[in-house]
Amino acid sequence: RFYNELQELKGNIRVYCRVRPFLPGQPAKQMTIDVIGENGELALINPSKTGKDGHKMFKFNKVYGPTATQEEVFSDVQPLIRSILDGFNVCICAYGQTGSGKTYTMTGPNNATKETWGVNYRALHDLFEISQTRKNMIAYEISVQIVEIYNEQVRDLLSTRATSQPNGLAVPDASIHPVASTSDVMELMETGFRNRAVGATAMNERSSRSHSVVSVHVRGTDLETGATSHGSLHLVDLAGSERVDRSEVTGDRLREAQHINKSLSALGDVIFALAQKSPHVPYRNSKLTQLLQSSLGGQAKTLMFVQINPDASSYSETSSTLKFAERVS
Ligand code: ADP
Ligand code: MG
Repeated sequence: RFYNELQELKGNIRVYCRVRPFLPGQPAKQMTIDVIGENGELALINPSKTGKDGHKMFKFNKVYGPTATQEEVFSDVQPLIRSILDGFNVCICAYGQTGSGKTYTMTGPNNATKETWGVNYRALHDLFEISQTRKNMIAYEISVQIVEIYNEQVRDLLSTRATSQPNGLAVPDASIHPVASTSDVMELMETGFRNRAVGATAMNERSSRSHSVVSVHVRGTDLETGATSHGSLHLVDLAGSERVDRSEVTGDRLREAQHINKSLSALGDVIFALAQKSPHVPYRNSKLTQLLQSSLGGQAKTLMFVQINPDASSYSETSSTLKFAERVS
């Protein structure tokens, strides 16, 4: 049994695809996705072709349709969270075009309730809960960093309240904050996401063009032997993957788009190399992959949420999103 668990815990990559619903108040439009079901298959429907010709099948580790709840989605994330307390590194990221539900999956909607909390809060909540159940054997210290990567520059979103010593896994030069409860985390995330908006003309605009990374560091000390373990969790809300028309943007917008493009392809290349068990993994090609290196590859576990807007008008973006995801899965 121990051996099986060890196998199960070996470094690996999962890709979960989530199709968001049409939003309330919007007329129900034509769907470009047919969610096939349990075994992770889904069909992409080309709106300009009829019949089976227009269907292309994709297969992922899981597929969630528009009615999947945050709780259902998180139940498939939970085993990864548990492994962090045993000293594993985990990376969970959300990929997709702007408006496809990345932030909904990772953080939740605006004014989230317990039911609509995203992966971030649920993960931290679990970490605290499980660490409590082990408190007679292991003392856990949990700390958090929040940064954004914009134009290949890392910016600390919690810089005003620096504390605690960084460890080997921490993001260099970003402040690190000890947390003792879910409400501490919520407060930090609120501060972080507020700071993200500072200086941006329109918050949504900026947030769709930068990557946000919440890094959680867990240090466990065995109360009997004094042995320590380190685990970490990176929670990444990636910049929008939509391609910009080079003929239409110039200057800053073009530069931003090029940076986003470069870092998303670098991420794709790293995960692809890992999936192929390639001896060379090109971590150095972007700030994003450098920052996530400890939680990509080796014994680390990587989960990518591929987010889909089901509207037929998004067909071509959806098609390239699914192709990206297919390559890394
Ligand atoms: P992104 O971060 O990819 O730009 P958002 O997470 O902001 O996209 O989602 C766009 C809109 O769709 C938001 O209003 C969000 O609340 C809503 N939304 C996304 N996914 C879901 C879902 N699974 N269920 C209900 N509403 C969702
Ligand atoms: Mg977002």
